Amino acid sequence: VVDEPIHEAVLARSAALHPDAVALIDADDPDASGTTTYAQLDVRHRALAAALIASGLRKGDVLALHSPNSVLYPVVFYGASRAGAAVTTVHPMCTAEEFAKQLADSRARWIVTVSPLLDTARRAADLAGTIQEILVCDRAEGHRSIVHDLLSDAPETPVPAVPIDPAQDIAVLPYSSGTTGAPKGVMLTHRNIATNLAQLHPLVPMVPGDRILAVLPFFHIYGMTALLNAPLQAGATVVVLARFDLDPFLRAIERHRITGLYVAPPIVLALAKHPAVDRYDLSSIEYIVSAAAPLDPRLAQACSDRLGLPPIRQGYGMTELSPATHIVPLATEDPPPGAVGRLLPSTEMRILRLDDPGRDAEPGEEGEIAIRGPQVMKGYLGRPEATAALIDPAGWVHTGDVGRVDGDGWLYVVDRVKELIKYKGFQVAPADLEALLLTHPAIADAAVIGVPDTDGNEVPKAFVVRGPGAADLDADEVMAHVAERVAPYKKIRRVEFIDAVPRAVSGKILRRELRLREKDRT
Ligand code: ATP
Ligand code: MG
Repeated sequence: VVDEPIHEAVLARSAALHPDAVALIDADDPDASGTTTYAQLDVRHRALAAALIASGLRKGDVLALHSPNSVLYPVVFYGASRAGAAVTTVHPMCTAEEFAKQLADSRARWIVTVSPLLDTARRAADLAGTIQEILVCDRAEGHRSIVHDLLSDAPETPVPAVPIDPAQDIAVLPYSSGTTGAPKGVMLTHRNIATNLAQLHPLVPMVPGDRILAVLPFFHIYGMTALLNAPLQAGATVVVLARFDLDPFLRAIERHRITGLYVAPPIVLALAKHPAVDRYDLSSIEYIVSAAAPLDPRLAQACSDRLGLPPIRQGYGMTELSPATHIVPLATEDPPPGAVGRLLPSTEMRILRLDDPGRDAEPGEEGEIAIRGPQVMKGYLGRPEATAALIDPAGWVHTGDVGRVDGDGWLYVVDRVKELIKYKGFQVAPADLEALLLTHPAIADAAVIGVPDTDGNEVPKAFVVRGPGAADLDADEVMAHVAERVAPYKKIRRVEFIDAVPRAVSGKILRRELRLREKDRT
């Protein structure tokens, strides 16, 4: 267990050991002048903390950070933390109404935003009615810019010391992805975050000289961990992209000689299948890690083969677990295909029977994954019933995910318990069928849900996106492709062609939206 405030745990050592190393590079900046050294990041985040305190921020205040990835993001993130705030990170593309909900739910008093999003932030603040001040962190006409003023590298500002209790005080208040319902505010303490970084570090070590591409959003716990906290703690360089577009992403890898890629499955899909990949020199990449959603082993293999890389490493976790519980160590040369990893140190796992969650499943059998460890969140903000439904009295988190463990301790995630399709007493995992559909060359993307049949069964229905030049792909061919490869009860029995699969930023398929569409129609 690491009992240190996150701004100390992440920044203190790197600033002391490699003050002149480059911490951050703005990939969208054509002449790469937007670089920040560790010494600068240290001075700037302290100056920001001092400015926030001078503006009236008090320990325990919730500050909403509403920004796409940028080199200023960590200045605000760690500065607010040093000032004693709990940072609730906000999806930069959310609507004013969604933003207002998060502000009201988290009782945020501060917003830090960027000028292009200022109007949305103002409307959200009006709707929520909790906000004391909106600050802008880039240059904005007619509005006070809190961060920009600090970038002149004025001599170090003295920061009043704010005492922090790492075991109790909330460092970040991210919202879960909202894949299964409304997003919930997850209270993560400084201890939760600092400890999870320490659990991960020996297995996926980053070192100074590593260049990590921040293509996933910092506001989501995966990007926050893998692309902000972990590399900055290690003294590596983070190359910051504001959003994912394939060509700028590939160009950034080539130009900045990126060594480590942390991605979600849709990016693996693009790397495996998209013709644009061949136009760039991606030879600097040493490894790829994928997490946050199911990754099909065939797709993973196609991607690593194409790029001439060792197998893609997976990680597993959830916002409520700070986030990681499993990782495939970089040092493992041949991890078994499909494994999401081995259990992190000081973490316990049980696989619970699906038909009797009070008992453990037989070794090797599928069941619900339950986790206990220092990375378990303090609770959902303001939702004691939801917290009690997730964490049992003995401290076990019932993840809602189905998994199994092999004889060597590798975990395989099957799908979410609630998404399993029940067909005549069998259980079918939509993720399996989605993976199989993607092996068809004419299928660009696919999603599967259970829909009611006339005889009271639930049957698998596929939503399929045709690939370029595959206009003649029809439902029979899709069904036949799957039927030839699975047991009869798993067959796809309905097909609908769509333009795009609805997805959360973390790459998860929003099956909830597809179910709603089905319902609206019947
Ligand atoms: P909500 O809880 O609001 O419905 P969410 O569960 O999607 O949203 P996150 O905390 O971002 O929010 O995601 C955690 C979930 O992501 C896990 O419960 C699991 O279902 C899925 N997941 C994470 N890593 C993997 C992985 N390697 N393979 C398969 N699924 C994964
Ligand atoms: Mg969840």
